[in-house]
Amino acid sequence: MSGPSRITHINHPTLDHCRELIGIVAPELVGDVPLYTLVQPPEFPKLERTAAVATRHADAGLAASLAAAGEWRGPGNTIMFCDHDFIDLGLALHEAAHLLPLMPAPKPPRVSDEGLIAPNAHWHAYADLLRGEAETDLAAIMPRWIVGDHGLQFVRRCLHLAHRAWHAGFDVPIWQMSFAGDQYDLSVDGEYRKAIGDEPVRLRDASFAEIEAEPMPAEFLDLFSADVQRWLDAHPGTRWTHAKLAS
Ligand SMILES: [Zn+2]
Repeated sequence: MSGPSRITHINHPTLDHCRELIGIVAPELVGDVPLYTLVQPPEFPKLERTAAVATRHADAGLAASLAAAGEWRGPGNTIMFCDHDFIDLGLALHEAAHLLPLMPAPKPPRVSDEGLIAPNAHWHAYADLLRGEAETDLAAIMPRWIVGDHGLQFVRRCLHLAHRAWHAGFDVPIWQMSFAGDQYDLSVDGEYRKAIGDEPVRLRDASFAEIEAEPMPAEFLDLFSADVQRWLDAHPGTRWTHAKLAS
């Protein structure tokens, strides 16, 4: 397998570095539909236990903030870091995986004067939801991979992005992407990387819609199935079934 001719390590990545990397590993995200990378505007509510968030809908509050910064280019996807001091390439790839495959542009949000003053209700509702999740022991009633959509297709996308980043010569260790392991009730990232085999190499130039149209490698499915079973065994009496979780 041919590897990168040299590896670039970026000590203090900027939003531009994140955009550049995403443009290389997932070009569909920087095409006709704008991709906004930004740090959470100060007027936004604090998002509990969240370092970054991806959204397919730049809602009115965010559109207004982007417009105020002279960056609004119409409806698009966003990757928003919650803290200036925590802009990270691995995290950027994690969030990019939430935006793939590329969906058609959402309807234009209304940008109002009100939006410039107050973050819109959607963000407050989201902050409330995260606070509620933090206070509820969700892990007792559902596998952690379900919360925030971190299931098998997500893991698969992350592994493809990780391989492409490595191939392009970027030093982004997979643990920095934070997509498997105990925090999601899944086997560790290295096991999933082994189980997916050469799929990321074979499909390196494919779009993410094309990847999702391909059957998953059997070993990859088997590993997830074992994780599902382990969770079920640890939660007797749950109403979840293997068929439901593994589908
Ligand atoms: Zn996530």
